[in-house]
Amino acid sequence: MSGIGDPRLEALRWRHEYAGKVRDLYLSDAEPGRALVVASDRVSAFDHVLSPGIPGKGALLTQLSLWWFSRLEVPNHLVEPTAGGLAALESPLPPDVAARAMLVKRLDMFPIEAVVRGYLVGSGWVEYQASRSVCGIPLPAGLSNGDRLPEPIYTPAYKAPLGEHDENITFAQTVELVGATDAAAIRDLSLHVFSTASAIAEERGVILADTKFEFGRDAASGEITLADEVLTSDSSRYWDAEAYAAGGANRLDSFDKQIVRDWLAAHWDKQGTPPELPAEIVERTAARYRELIERLTLPR
Ligand code: ATP
Ligand code: MG
Repeated sequence: MSGIGDPRLEALRWRHEYAGKVRDLYLSDAEPGRALVVASDRVSAFDHVLSPGIPGKGALLTQLSLWWFSRLEVPNHLVEPTAGGLAALESPLPPDVAARAMLVKRLDMFPIEAVVRGYLVGSGWVEYQASRSVCGIPLPAGLSNGDRLPEPIYTPAYKAPLGEHDENITFAQTVELVGATDAAAIRDLSLHVFSTASAIAEERGVILADTKFEFGRDAASGEITLADEVLTSDSSRYWDAEAYAAGGANRLDSFDKQIVRDWLAAHWDKQGTPPELPAEIVERTAARYRELIERLTLPR
């Protein structure tokens, strides 16, 4: 990723600190101990950032994170619970940036991706086929791709430095990384948030198949705090409950970049630079992101 930030934020004395595949982190001397997390419209698949982006995606991801933060009764990194914490800023952000931004407490992040799975799919399914377990957790025999697990399981990964692949690890390895007390607290919080969120999604006809959380420690309070994005379509697999129950070929189509992934898989051999996404694929993907947020957040 290039390290170039938004010049309008630089003008407001926000220094571009870090570019992830999707989000940018800005720091300011005027806001010590805080960070501005700005989601972009960038979309990645198969570890490549694609072109063009998906218009509106950054705003939708931010809106969805904020919606979930407000419903989950665990400490989170927003400096204020409403409006992405942005009201605490002395100089307001340009509106199109504000729609994609959160003002957060800068935490000491744990190097763990706290993954919870309610269903067996993706890398969990791959691991199960080889060992009948996921991250060291033994599972019943005879499960198929996409099956619901007897109960949600915590399957952490080591958060590799930028450019390297995250790697599934056992709970015991997380104890080695962060100590027994924090490892257990992170696991318990993750399972708790997952079950709260899956129940909320289920009421809306949406299955939360799996998700990834990131936690950090708030240096001031010492509290383990939910950070990063939460329960967005980038960090989670959501399925349509009706399509899942009907059992057709699209029953495991996730509410995110499935359309992009399917198109790329058919038009690219995964060597070199991926091709430009056609306008039609971009629009269908944007519509899918909008559909998820409507399903989850609009009153029914
Ligand atoms: P990837 O592109 O694989 O997602 P990434 O997770 O490093 O890589 P982003 O998610 O785009 O990149 O960027 C967000 C970064 O900000 C992450 O490194 C995340 O750990 C970090 N982060 C999120 N919330 C906080 C916080 N409150 N304090 C400090 N760092 C945070
Ligand atoms: Mg990330």
